[in-house]
Amino acid sequence: MVICLKVHEYQAKEIFKKYGVPVPDGALSRTPAEAKETARRIGAPVVVKAQVHAGGRGKGGGIKLAATPDDAESVARKILGMRLVTHQTGPEGTLVKSVLVERASDVEREMYLGMVIDRERSQVAVISSPEGGVEIESVALKSPEKVHKAWVDPLVGLMPYQARQICFGLGLAGQPFKDGVNCILNLYRLFVSEDATLAEINPLAVTRDGKLIAIDAKINLDDDAAFRHNDRPDYRDPNEEDPLEVEAKTHNLSYIKLSGTVGCMVNGAGLAMATMDLIKHCGGEPANFLDVGGAASSDAVEKAFKILTSDKDVRCVLINIFGGIVRCDRVATGVVEAIGKAGDAGMPIVVRLEGTNAKEGIDILRGSGLNFHTATGFHEAAQKAVDLSRGGA
Ligand code: GDP
Ligand code: MG
Repeated sequence: MVICLKVHEYQAKEIFKKYGVPVPDGALSRTPAEAKETARRIGAPVVVKAQVHAGGRGKGGGIKLAATPDDAESVARKILGMRLVTHQTGPEGTLVKSVLVERASDVEREMYLGMVIDRERSQVAVISSPEGGVEIESVALKSPEKVHKAWVDPLVGLMPYQARQICFGLGLAGQPFKDGVNCILNLYRLFVSEDATLAEINPLAVTRDGKLIAIDAKINLDDDAAFRHNDRPDYRDPNEEDPLEVEAKTHNLSYIKLSGTVGCMVNGAGLAMATMDLIKHCGGEPANFLDVGGAASSDAVEKAFKILTSDKDVRCVLINIFGGIVRCDRVATGVVEAIGKAGDAGMPIVVRLEGTNAKEGIDILRGSGLNFHTATGFHEAAQKAVDLSRGGA
């Protein structure tokens, strides 16, 4: 499972600048007055852009042109504080807390350029189209021949001849062609150096005065490589993350919210995957992936339990612990303590302990006076949890 960190457009453009990918002048603004000041400083006309992680902002009304600094102020007033709904946000939308105010470009043509990791080929794929912009999805659907793909050999990297081929495919000529080659090579350098999982420019534009410029910018970074980038600014925006995932992160728990109703607490990522599989096999849906760590400390169990029971979708909790590094009696004591402290969960809890001292562990659970359903087999535990999540016994 690759967990990626999404960054805002304004942050992606700062990274673009560092690598020589051309972007418009602009600055982040958190108030209408700031937006006006920025417009005055960089020179109108400007474009005011909602900074949320979802794409499709243009169609959702989160991107507006402003002819004067006063216009920029009033447009920013409308966008800031709105709940922007796009095809990527869900009906509740995302609260806009800041806008990027940029010098507007006089766009002649919009193209698409993106890089992603192609997991089947174990290579970076460069995707490009001479017809970019807000309708790229329908271009891909209706005229797939207009979407070009090239793959990069990881040993030699992206070759200049490949970048030139891509630029021919984009329909570039003259100076924009030369700039396009550099832009593609620089974007690839960025992709590799920053450990990105996605880098996308949509649209990459040619302006009426023949300049190539990245109008939009999207970068996802590989979270597992974050340790190699300690000098990087903190790109995380808690406003854009699931609050329970943020909470889990502060306690070093690996937690990912899913859409089902069986809350899972498991020690070890492999066991977590197997548990989710078995819940599905039994006809249920896991509400999350949660690994409390091999040692399953009482503290981790308590924090994890609180997170699971505050997820409004969870109907039943399944605790599936393998006593390998830890003994089951210790885990059972931890679970009893944690759940005793956390209070009544208001939902059934199924516990399955296996491994060293499993029997002693089960005895501790049974003798605790707390209301557990115990199970010895993995399948039995999953089936019980699925049945209980549906209100059955
Ligand atoms: P998205 O809708 O979230 O992908 O946001 P974009 O940054 O891609 O903007 C959406 C659309 O707004 C672009 O495809 C452009 O057509 C238009 N747009 C954004 N900035 C400018 C600009 O500076 N000049 C012009 N003419 N159009 C722009
Ligand atoms: Mg875009």
